Amino acid sequence: MPMMTADQYEASLRALNLEVYMFGKRVTNVVDDPIIRPSMNAVAKTYELAHDPAYADLMTARSHLSGKRINRFTHIHQSTDDLVKKSKMGRLLGRKTGCCFQRCVGMDALNALSIITYNIDQKHETHYNERFKRYLATVQEKDLVCDGAMTDPKGDRSLPPHRQPDPDHYLRIVEKREDGIVVRGAKAHQTGAVNSHEVIVMPTIAMGEADRDYAVSFALPSDARGIIYILGRQSCDTRKLEGGAMDQGNMLFGGHEALVVFDDVFVPWDRVFMCGEYEFAGSLVEMFAAYHRQSYACKVGVGDVLIGAAQLAAEYNGAARASHVKDKLIEMNHLNETLYCGCLACATEGKKKLSGTYAVNTLLANIHKQNVTRFPYEIARLAQDIAGGLMVTLPSQKDLDGDATGKWVQKYFKAQPGIPTADRMRILRLIENLTLGTAAVGYLTESMHGAGSPQAQRIMIGRKINMAEKKTAAMRLCGIDVKSE
Ligand code: SF4
Ligand code: FE
Repeated sequence: MPMMTADQYEASLRALNLEVYMFGKRVTNVVDDPIIRPSMNAVAKTYELAHDPAYADLMTARSHLSGKRINRFTHIHQSTDDLVKKSKMGRLLGRKTGCCFQRCVGMDALNALSIITYNIDQKHETHYNERFKRYLATVQEKDLVCDGAMTDPKGDRSLPPHRQPDPDHYLRIVEKREDGIVVRGAKAHQTGAVNSHEVIVMPTIAMGEADRDYAVSFALPSDARGIIYILGRQSCDTRKLEGGAMDQGNMLFGGHEALVVFDDVFVPWDRVFMCGEYEFAGSLVEMFAAYHRQSYACKVGVGDVLIGAAQLAAEYNGAARASHVKDKLIEMNHLNETLYCGCLACATEGKKKLSGTYAVNTLLANIHKQNVTRFPYEIARLAQDIAGGLMVTLPSQKDLDGDATGKWVQKYFKAQPGIPTADRMRILRLIENLTLGTAAVGYLTESMHGAGSPQAQRIMIGRKINMAEKKTAAMRLCGIDVKSE
């Protein structure tokens, strides 16, 4: 059966030879590194739940290539039902992990490439789609995690790729050989990069003819020679090194991002999916972005965790019955379920593309992600309001456990009878983690900038809205001659 267990996934990562750096030093044991490990645990959850009969319908699908049951993260959507299940899977995993579980970017890259390689072939009589399908068959059969790598460092934002003072600020082809291409550049903010078996590179913006060398898409094993990973820092990350697991808030899971450098890396032709067809760079970006904006169903699941934590914080200190607290919790739920509506709507309004893949409704996916740039911030504000200042003034677990301090921490942070002080501290630490700590990267900043910053969605909304239809509707109702428009 082509589905790895969580243990097999961990073992498969140990077999990789990644060049990873953090705090200026090479990380030799990536899987067991205490800063990275929680992010591996989060990806492992995507394997674990796929083997749980209770979640099989959401977490697995039947491959349209092999007919075998596969992990949904490697699946090409064959119906709107598949798209809906993808949204539900994202919420489920967000709720189970309370963080970014990282595997969606690869799924979204695979689906976008299944459509765009087909379209390129139609115009140029190339064979990218067959090539891509062979690659996809391997990903499905081996149940791999793919890092979907789109965002270039971008240098001077006012200039296109070919006019950058440093030509490597967008990833590019530096050599074409008989057996493949050599690429140079970098991809920034790469979610889950060092938990991935593969990296799938795509261009990051629409391009013109002069940018031809930058219009490139390919896949490589994540430990291919010349790929270097530099881990990003997260707020409060070194709490994972200090002992006192309670202080981490989320004691099990986390996410990570990395700068991925391609230092003249060779890509064989059978792994190249776009090579100079610059006029398709924009549509690949749009297609990937629409899928990935739908993927922000994950934040609904993380929102479930934060709402639950806020409710518990109120119950633990005796404030849960106050009408304003109840109302704040209703508002949090209203916002969170509104997000859920968006990621379901873009899925149910999905359409079949020429390649046979189902794509989400682009307008609604962008509307959904635009809401995601806002609502989690308001949900987080309300959670902090309910939690109170103790969330950020609380002593450490070591003080709770300390000989001289323990009795005072126990005594003065006790609230509702029957609720252990330690439990009250745990829930406040979880709210801190989700709104200010490592998980705030995923719940807040990633909600803002992941899958494109807010303005990127507004541009798409402007492009996709049918304004003529709206004007006609207004003109008809008030007697203006529609033909005059
Ligand atoms: Fe998936 Fe959400 Fe993480 Fe993006 S932010 S990779 S959609 S879990
Ligand atoms: Fe993301």
